[in-house]
Amino acid sequence: MEKEAGRGERIIQLVLVLVAIIAILVGCYLIYYSLTQWLDFQRGAYLMYGFFILILLFYVLLALPRKGKIQLTAKTVSVLRCNQCGASMVRDFAKGDYIFKEEGRCGRCNSGTWIIEEIFEVPLRRGKPRRQGKSPR
Ligand SMILES: [Zn+2]
Repeated sequence: MEKEAGRGERIIQLVLVLVAIIAILVGCYLIYYSLTQWLDFQRGAYLMYGFFILILLFYVLLALPRKGKIQLTAKTVSVLRCNQCGASMVRDFAKGDYIFKEEGRCGRCNSGTWIIEEIFEVPLRRGKPRRQGKSPR
């Protein structure tokens, strides 16, 4: 299932790249045509369409990487706690996690069960970490 989803995403990306290349070519051709074909009285309209396509594409390309960055700014983690010894453990959120889900035998006391106690998002710092005041060591 996951492999198929990945392949589908790749096809969508490929189609987007192809559409972008075609749009750039069409836009450039329209601009080139309008700048060289002085006898065509519609060249002004062609020039406008050419620029319109390129500007539109520029905005789309600007918007695409931003989507990826948003996903990188936060990470979801699950906090597990043993119901016998009370030991806690933090790990990355896995698909299918939910509060009070049992996650197997505790390795510390060998009798308790790990239970998911909390699921929350942790903001990730990108680039230079900005800390105000003293940095805790
Ligand atoms: Zn335990």
